[in-house]
Amino acid sequence: QKKHKVTVVGSGNWGTTMSKLVAENVKAHPTLFEETVRMWVFEEDVTIPKESKHYDAGSETANKPQKLSHLINTIHENVKYLPNITLPPNVVANPDVVDSVKDSTILIFVLPHQFIPRVCDQLAGKTLPFARAICCTKGVDVSEKGIRLMSEAIGMRLEIYCGALSGANIASEIAQEKYSETTIAYDPPPMDSRNPTPKGSPTSSQVDLISPSKAVPSARSARLKALPSEYPPLSHENVRKLFHRPYFHVRMVSDVAGVSLGGALKNIIALAAGFVDGLGWGDNAKAAVMRVGILEMVKFGKAFFADSVQTSTFTEESCGVADVVTSCMGGRNFRCAKMAIERGETIFDIEQKVLNGQKLQGTSTAYEVNSFLKSQGMEKDFPLFTAVYNILEGNAKPEQIPELIEPKQ
Ligand code: NAD
Ligand code: 13P
Ligand code: CA
Repeated sequence: QKKHKVTVVGSGNWGTTMSKLVAENVKAHPTLFEETVRMWVFEEDVTIPKESKHYDAGSETANKPQKLSHLINTIHENVKYLPNITLPPNVVANPDVVDSVKDSTILIFVLPHQFIPRVCDQLAGKTLPFARAICCTKGVDVSEKGIRLMSEAIGMRLEIYCGALSGANIASEIAQEKYSETTIAYDPPPMDSRNPTPKGSPTSSQVDLISPSKAVPSARSARLKALPSEYPPLSHENVRKLFHRPYFHVRMVSDVAGVSLGGALKNIIALAAGFVDGLGWGDNAKAAVMRVGILEMVKFGKAFFADSVQTSTFTEESCGVADVVTSCMGGRNFRCAKMAIERGETIFDIEQKVLNGQKLQGTSTAYEVNSFLKSQGMEKDFPLFTAVYNILEGNAKPEQIPELIEPKQ
């Protein structure tokens, strides 16, 4: 029997953490997975910081920029995006995106969402036709055609099935092996190695991948190839084995849209929480924006992904309420929004100054969701999402949040 080869596409704070965790799991399940986990690194030159245990003032390379992929493969640490965490040596960094996915049956996408379309365009036609993907990216893909989940943006470009992983998962805590939960939505059509012809498609091994939604009526029909029978089936049980760790508890569900939207929309809520906290308004104010934000998240799912979203995904799973809570306590979107108000600077400047190359997802998501809501004539139905957009644009002040989110009596 063949084994699954795994590639992690992305090597930021979460991407590097996912690589560590998955590399631990492939070793724990050697009959299912190949031992090497390849990680695509967006190559850059990095100097080992003086505070790092790898900094050696006497060495030739001290204070000299080196390739990040080379550093990861030699000192087994991503000193820029996940400092002070040792990676297992079976994580192998690869700066060539096409080469990194070659022959992999499992692709784990963990790029900031704005880079997904471009990277997937580079990968189109270069992945195994029967590969399966899991999207750990939090965001949405908005175009003039409507709105897509990131899992759909990946699935359609690569013509492969793509599920989603999302939860209350601040990467640095998981990298330190502190307990957290996560939610994985993985629900390919009923077609497996043992059953290459899916239901309702008698002559072909291809089926419609993505259910149609109100928002994008025609754009959701990528094609899917069956996994050859030499590979272990990618059942919920086996997918769970790739991600579940003693410190990272996985719950498997089938609601890809709910899982994806929870992760994307909570980033807008976290900005609102940062704005009110930056004003010094305290925890009651944060709780208020969290309450309204969760209601808008559920409403958004029901309005635009009605045929697939389940409310319980938002209310009962880690990817919903729990992610809102953790992100509004300590996430980067929250912290940068708070700092922007406290320092009287734009959040875009704060992102540049304090995140050392890490990327906020809430700012662009607030713009993307707003442009989609505008196109639907529904800005007023989502007052918190709209308020965050208007604050970012300078059309409203954070002090106005209470009146902006108050329903008109
Ligand atoms: P990050 O913000 O830490 O790092 C940014 C990454 O983008 C770096 O790897 C950088 O090399 C890469 N990059 C920069 N320019 C690029 C380009 N032109 N093309 C491709 N890549 C480029 O990244 P992250 O934290 O791993 O975030 C990835 C996704 O994971 C995001 O959607 C985020 O919401 C999600 N996520 C993050 C966390 C977390 O705690 N960090 C937790 C859960 C989910
Ligand atoms: P930030 O990107 O705001 O840090 O959020 C991380 C996250 O998604 C926690 O679940
Ligand atoms: Ca507090």
